[in-house]
Amino acid sequence: MQVAVFNTKPYDRHFLEAANAAQHHTLTFFESRLTLETCALAQQFPAICVFVNDQLTRVVLTKLAEGGTRLLALRCAGFNHVDLAAAQELGMTTVRVPAYSPYAVAEHTLALVLALNRKIYRAYSRVREGNFALEGLLGFDLHGRTVGIIGTGKIGAVTAKILNGFGCQLLAHDPFPNLEVLAFGAQYVALPELLRHADIVTLHCPLLPNTHHLINADTLKHLKPGAMLINTSRGALIDTSAVIRALKSGAIGALGLDVYEEEAGMFFEDLSNAMLQDDVFARLLTFPNVIITGHQAFFTREALTGIAETTLANITAFAEGRHCANSVTLERIKK
Ligand code: NAD
Repeated sequence: MQVAVFNTKPYDRHFLEAANAAQHHTLTFFESRLTLETCALAQQFPAICVFVNDQLTRVVLTKLAEGGTRLLALRCAGFNHVDLAAAQELGMTTVRVPAYSPYAVAEHTLALVLALNRKIYRAYSRVREGNFALEGLLGFDLHGRTVGIIGTGKIGAVTAKILNGFGCQLLAHDPFPNLEVLAFGAQYVALPELLRHADIVTLHCPLLPNTHHLINADTLKHLKPGAMLINTSRGALIDTSAVIRALKSGAIGALGLDVYEEEAGMFFEDLSNAMLQDDVFARLLTFPNVIITGHQAFFTREALTGIAETTLANITAFAEGRHCANSVTLERIKK
């Protein structure tokens, strides 16, 4: 199948080409993100392949459909950036990669927790400058601490398993309790209760209309004073302005982010020679107790191999007219 692959970096090409050796599709790589301005590149391509920050809005999808596109192959798990209603009305099929190494994201979550707690980023700079003072580097034992996991699907469950190994007490919040997580001694509670008792809160639920700004000025009122907040899921789960106010007051003791609600157009690019235009993001960077990584939690060899192989297999299933278990429809989400 002819596939227009948007938003590609050299590493995307490497892993997709390796996976395609067994599938024989014709992949045309574009560096640009899919936007209204770039969607003309997809003219005559029956399939497009996109990532988390591509814009699959109704107007873009309409143009794609006019150009002959019938398959939207997402090389990610989340589909909050796709207007699914429009895609279905236009007769387009959407497929995704529902699972690819939950370990990658769960392990990065722990990397943020440990780095923030033991101030590794500050210690690294200090020692390089010959400053071996410990003042300001005090952490706490993770053993015995209470961690609240919001969303206990694939990634939340692996996170629970790792934290259980550290000897943490686990609280969980999810409309569908996970037996594996219960086996680690986790207790499922309502969101306010989780926030009240957790020393660390970590987000692993999808971004949906009902989870948008799940962490906001109202929910933050329940947060245990000085708790650590981690978000490796989707930026808009957090109202960033409310979180900044909570950091200023000390209500949040430390913040680790791998995602940011306005990350599109910024993350995945080298903007080190440009002026940072996002004042909210710039304010976040001023806090000594905040670590931000640029949506790299998924970025392991195992995850990229899994993403590429599933994406190509999804495209093959569509090309051969087979049912694809990884298709996303409004009906399936509502189930
Ligand atoms: P999953 O579908 O296996 O699990 C999501 C869980 O969230 C489910 O158990 C679901 O019931 C639960 N949930 C839904 N609504 C909820 C709510 N209102 N409150 C609490 N829980 C709720 O998904 P997953 O594979 O574990 O991925 C989780 C999220 O991680 C994805 O949606 C994606 O946004 C994010 N992600 C981030 C990266 C990264 O690189 N940073 C990579 C992959 C996935």
